[in-house]
Amino acid sequence: MEQDKKYTLPLLPYDYKALAPYMSEEQIRIHHDKHHLSYVKGANLILEKLENARKRGEELDMGAILKKLSFNVGGNSLHSLFWQNMAPANNGGGGEPTNMLMQKINEEFQSFNRFKKEFTESTMSIEGSGWSALSYDKELDRLLITHIQIHNKNIYPTFPILMVLDFWEHAYYIDYKSEKAKFIEAFWNIVNWEEVNRRFEKARSL
Ligand code: MN
Repeated sequence: MEQDKKYTLPLLPYDYKALAPYMSEEQIRIHHDKHHLSYVKGANLILEKLENARKRGEELDMGAILKKLSFNVGGNSLHSLFWQNMAPANNGGGGEPTNMLMQKINEEFQSFNRFKKEFTESTMSIEGSGWSALSYDKELDRLLITHIQIHNKNIYPTFPILMVLDFWEHAYYIDYKSEKAKFIEAFWNIVNWEEVNRRFEKARSL
């Protein structure tokens, strides 16, 4: 029973080469196969540590271990959302959202361009490692841009995430070196708006 209750690295929904030239094969291989995997392994290792300590009745430094668990589980969750909210530029990526999501973006941000501008600025203002996210608050029926530090800080605890952009250096350094702005610009060519819209409709119906 216990061995099933583990995190696993999700397969990419496209080929490693599929997001080029905006995101190269080499960049994705390292990011997905090494970095994302390390959060999956890290989370499982901590869960195992907790299980073993419970079985043996051992003491644990709960503060330290739960901090690490949150970091690794957050890393896995965000990366899983990230891969899914991208698609090849010639097969569903880029362009503009349609349907309800576009309507809501216009309502909240005045225009799609204004939304892109705010999201880009949110991302550029990240100090060190972090993520930009688009979240939805059902109570107010409003979209909110989130500015996540590392993988798990400054996040709205219960608001579903519709779209994320990984802005850790490991996400872009092979392709863009220090030219961070170019990485964000490239991202707009591979956003899978159909998936983002699907998440939005699901969040509204919860
Ligand atoms: Mn990453």
